[in-house]
Amino acid sequence: MSVAEDSGMYAEAVAMLEREAASQLMRHLQEKGTLRQVSVDIRLQMDKRSMTVNFGPGYLPGPEGSYDELFLHPMASSLRFFAEKSGLEVNDINFLFEGKPLEDYYPDDLAVPVQSSRKKTSSSALVSSSHGYISLHPSREWKFQRPAPLGLQEDTLSPVYGDELQALIEQRSGLTVHRARSRSTDLHPESNMPWEHMSSRYHLKALFPERTDMWNEFPNSTDSAREKDEDIRARPNYANHLGVDVMISLHSNGHDSADVRGAEVYYHREKPQDKPLADSIICSMRELIRAQPGYGAFPIRESSNQGAHGENRIGKMPSVIVETAYHSNPDDAAALQDPIFRSASMKGVEKGYRLWATGKTCEPLALQPLPDIEVPLQSSRDVNVTFAGNPQFPVVLEVGVADCDRPGFCTPLKTTFNDPSAPVMFGASCSSTRPGTVRWKVLIRDADGVAAAPVEFTQACVRS
Ligand SMILES: [Zn+2]
Repeated sequence: MSVAEDSGMYAEAVAMLEREAASQLMRHLQEKGTLRQVSVDIRLQMDKRSMTVNFGPGYLPGPEGSYDELFLHPMASSLRFFAEKSGLEVNDINFLFEGKPLEDYYPDDLAVPVQSSRKKTSSSALVSSSHGYISLHPSREWKFQRPAPLGLQEDTLSPVYGDELQALIEQRSGLTVHRARSRSTDLHPESNMPWEHMSSRYHLKALFPERTDMWNEFPNSTDSAREKDEDIRARPNYANHLGVDVMISLHSNGHDSADVRGAEVYYHREKPQDKPLADSIICSMRELIRAQPGYGAFPIRESSNQGAHGENRIGKMPSVIVETAYHSNPDDAAALQDPIFRSASMKGVEKGYRLWATGKTCEPLALQPLPDIEVPLQSSRDVNVTFAGNPQFPVVLEVGVADCDRPGFCTPLKTTFNDPSAPVMFGASCSSTRPGTVRWKVLIRDADGVAAAPVEFTQACVRS
C-alpha cells in the first residue's frame, strides 16, 4: 500500500494527529519564549506500522537542548497513543525537518560511532539510572531533571531499579556491572545534596576531573540547562570509556496526559542491530511482569520502539533504554512503587539481555501435551515432562488431581527440580490391587513465578 493511500484512508485521524502535534510544538516553543506556528504534515505507512512527522520551516532543534529529545519522545508517545485510540496500530515514529532527518543537518555530531565488534563472551555492563540533580545557569540553582506530577520523582526512583538490575545481572548473567551514578549517601559538597541524587555528570567529574570531553561537552553553551545536555552524553561517554559490552539505561516515562501508560523499550533507529536485544527485553519483561498476581494485564508493548535518544546513539556497544512504566499515570505510578513490580520488571530486563546474549529466543513457557498412559497394577512408570520456554530454575512441578474414580486413592504430588540439565519427570504409580483411572492436571512454575498453562492426561491402572 502506498503512503498516500494509507493517509487518505485515515484522513480524519491524520488531521487530528497533525493538529495535536502542531499545538504541542507551539506550546513547547512558547515555553522557550518563541511565538511561532510551524506546519506539521503526518504520513502513515500502516504496512510498516510507522508514522512520519514532517515539521515545516521554523523548527530545527540542535545539539544544545539535546535535539529536543525530551520534547519529541513524549510527542511520539502521544501520537502513538492517539493513533491507537483511532484504531491505527503505530509502533515507530520518525521526525523530519523540512523533509530531512536531523542527521542531514548535523552529520558529524549525529553520526553513530563505529560499533565495537561483539566479543564471544560478554563480561561487563553499564547500568545507567535516569537523571538526577543538575545545576542551572546562571542561577546555579540545583534542580531535578524530571517533573513529578504524581509526586514520584524519576531521578531518585530509578537508581533503586538500578540496584535490583545490577544484582540480577551479577548473579544470573555473571557480568561485572558499572553504574553511571553514585549510590553514596554522602553529601556532594557543591550542592549539599546526597551523591546518590546527583546526575552522572557530577559523579564522572569527581571520578575523572581531567576528562572534560566526557562530562563537559558544551562549555560554551549559553543554554540554562546545558548541564542536562552534558549529562545525557556523559552516560554513554562513560560506557565507551569503560568499554562495556552492553549499556542498559533505566527510566520511568512521563507524559502530560495521565492516560498514557505501559512499559516500553527503545533502541536507536540508526543502530538497527540493537533491535533484537530491545525486543528480547520487552518480551521477557512481559513474561515476568504478567506472571505476578495483579499484573496479568499490565500494558507492555508488543515489540520495542525506534527512537533517537543520544543515550542510545553514542555508545559503541548495544544500547537500549528501558522505560519501565509512566510515573505520570496513577496505575503505573502505583506499580513503580511496588517491590513486586520492581523485581519482576528488572528480572525481565536481565532475562531479555541474557537470552539475547546467549542466542536464545524469548518464548512463552509451555508444556508439551502428555499422552494418556496405562500402568500395570502394583508398578510404576516414569512420565517425562517436556516444555518450551526458558524457565528460571529451580522449577516446581505440580501434579494435581483433576478427576479420580476412587476418591482418596489418587495422591497429588509437588516436586522441585534444581538442575536445568536434568529431566523434569515424575513416577505415575499404581500401588493398589484394584484397577482404576485418574485424570492428572500437570503444571510447572519457575523460580520467578512464571507458570505454564496446565496440561491434563489420564492414567489407567490396569491388570497386567
Ligand atoms: Zn527519564
